[in-house]
Amino acid sequence: MKILLQFPEGLKQEALKHAKELEKDGHEVFISASPTFGACDLALDEARGIKADKLIHFGHAEFHNVDFPVEYVHYPIDAPLCLLESSLEQLKPYRTISIVTTVQHIHQLDNIRKFYEENGKNVIIGKPFGFAKAPGQILGCDIGSAASVDKEVDAHVYFGGGMFHPLGALLQTSKPFFAIEPFENKMARIDGLRDTYKKRSRGKIMGSLEARNFGILVSTKNGQHNMNLAKVLKKKIEGQGLNAEILVANTFDFDSINNMLEFDALVNTACPRIGIDDIDRTRKPLLSANELMEVLRIKAELILSKK
Ligand code: SF4
Repeated sequence: MKILLQFPEGLKQEALKHAKELEKDGHEVFISASPTFGACDLALDEARGIKADKLIHFGHAEFHNVDFPVEYVHYPIDAPLCLLESSLEQLKPYRTISIVTTVQHIHQLDNIRKFYEENGKNVIIGKPFGFAKAPGQILGCDIGSAASVDKEVDAHVYFGGGMFHPLGALLQTSKPFFAIEPFENKMARIDGLRDTYKKRSRGKIMGSLEARNFGILVSTKNGQHNMNLAKVLKKKIEGQGLNAEILVANTFDFDSINNMLEFDALVNTACPRIGIDDIDRTRKPLLSANELMEVLRIKAELILSKK
């Protein structure tokens, strides 16, 4: 069988080992050398381009259905649980908590839940909205496991590495939010960041009020492609007598986008995290669809008030 292997950045160091194993079994094996951001970003064009029979995607769970044979290889990682004991002191004021984690640690969720229950907590595990698959699992673009139980809990606890995942959940919830970083043996309360990100969003909106030319970003990545939304937004912008064009790429290169000097503001329809994490990489404000709607609303009000 002709197989294309795809690894996220953190697992690319293991590509050769897996390729050799499959070759021993008689397969013809190729490795995708493109950057990989998630299971939203399957290397289907590359797989079709080399006429592969199958794509094997490592490290992420299935994101959505695609019309190509894809095998997902999970990479569970056992993180040390020793921080749970010391987290009890900070979590003392909160009786009911939610716990969220990434797919790498989802197999540890039951043990984490048991630990907190044995220590007097009422634990609620929320359900994802759809892109993430397991209860308690979050993705940068699916924070349902936290947001769906926000009203019922006194605090949220994220267990796992890095800030990418908890940041998305933090911005869509309202309760105290704690991040346990088991690999660095750290626990931090992070809900103070909500205000920072709200101010940044307001700054982007205010910075776009004079914009006349909008560039709408559409990614061709299979799980990020949102042309319908882009077309709706283009119509809304043009409906207010402004200009909009749709900018298409697989992975956005912001140096290249920054060369498009005619655009006064950009609107993201791809991975929702681009409009949060990459805003310092563009010269012009990089808006989400909701932020664009707010810009258009304020612009319309300003025009009315001048009449
Ligand atoms: S957060 Fe972005 S990169 Fe991650 S799975 Fe969602 S769309 Fe893909």
